[in-house]
Amino acid sequence: MTKKTPAAEGGAPVRDRFLPFARPCIEETDIDLVIETLRSGWLTVGPKTHEFQRRVAEYVGVESAAALSSCTAGLHLAMVALGIGEGDEVIVPTIDFVSGANTICHLGAKPVLVDVDPVTLCVTPEILKSAITDRTRLLMPVHFAGHPCDMDGIMDLARARGIKVLGDAAHAIGADIGGRRIGSIADLTSFSFYVTKGITTGEGGAVTSTDPDLTARIALLGLHGMSSDAWKRYSDRGPWYYEVHEAGYKYNMNDIQAALGLAQLDRVDGFRERRREIADAFTAAFATNPLVSPPAQFEGGHHAWHLYPIRIDTDSLAIDRDRFIHQLLEEGIGVSVHFIPVHYHPYYRKTLGHAPGDFPVAEAYFERAISLPIYPSMTDEDVGDVIEAVNRLTTFHRR
Ligand SMILES: *Cc1c(COP(=O)(O)O)cnc(C)c1O
Repeated sequence: MTKKTPAAEGGAPVRDRFLPFARPCIEETDIDLVIETLRSGWLTVGPKTHEFQRRVAEYVGVESAAALSSCTAGLHLAMVALGIGEGDEVIVPTIDFVSGANTICHLGAKPVLVDVDPVTLCVTPEILKSAITDRTRLLMPVHFAGHPCDMDGIMDLARARGIKVLGDAAHAIGADIGGRRIGSIADLTSFSFYVTKGITTGEGGAVTSTDPDLTARIALLGLHGMSSDAWKRYSDRGPWYYEVHEAGYKYNMNDIQAALGLAQLDRVDGFRERRREIADAFTAAFATNPLVSPPAQFEGGHHAWHLYPIRIDTDSLAIDRDRFIHQLLEEGIGVSVHFIPVHYHPYYRKTLGHAPGDFPVAEAYFERAISLPIYPSMTDEDVGDVIEAVNRLTTFHRR
């Protein structure tokens, strides 16, 4: 590796056109289907939302799915449907977006944070087991970065204890374990179709379950608890009639979002394959850089490669992770960090009484973590620029 001066130290940047950290993959087929929906007059829950639900269920390999406004809404409603409430404990990793912990709090339940495996950054059955108490009602494993958790081990543990499993699959559309797709193994699974995720509906989410009664209940809860949505209302008994069976929420997906989702779902495996190619190129390139630890591969099936979080060897560098990120941005490379541990946030420090030192693996990871850009529309040249920028900075700042 030649030693070039980083842009932040006065050299010429790797790129003059900034490479964004994430970018949705929107093509003419997406635009056409959204426009067709706008012209159809059905903008809220209608034929496209129903078709999207069917297609998500079919793709994942379950009977039915409930399409919602977000993955967060899905986590919330899944727990409402399971009757999680006051006094219950739900186990969730601290390396996670705050949706899981926040929604647990919305129900008056207690998020019990746990550390993650140092290699996969996922929770393991052993880690979960050590946090189970008499009050534990639910396990919430996160398929971090798109790497599937050990779902057989987690399901065995949960069944033996009579508790449920709700997978956070915000990163994991397209991932599978030996051909069994994520979303078809846990009792309930919530997916995200936020703009940066594996497929997007702008904003959106879906819940799948191995129990079709649960997805039906979640779809009902997502639209005020009404017996029938607008689509059926106008075709059944009369346009004025509906029944409320539960005090529900307003968490539905709409047909404009679902149209985009349908066009995206057609390409989900192709998106995943391009993400894998990029991940493989990064992993091969960093194999010769001792200051960069690439994320774990998954041997048991497909990794969704939503994120590519490297760990830099800060002990051997003259700059810390925050300055490293600043200098990558100066090179024209958009990067991010996933995630600030949940227990670092002021609200959770205050309510759960956690302090730095409580979750050593998560904390050591967080000090070193940088998520590199990885998305289907990146060119091979973009990928090469990311590699060059990371290698340039580690070479220059090596102690
Ligand atoms: C993005 C994300 C969510 C939230 O998804 P929304 O669809 O924005 O609600 C939840 N969990 C994880 C791990 C995420 O990355």
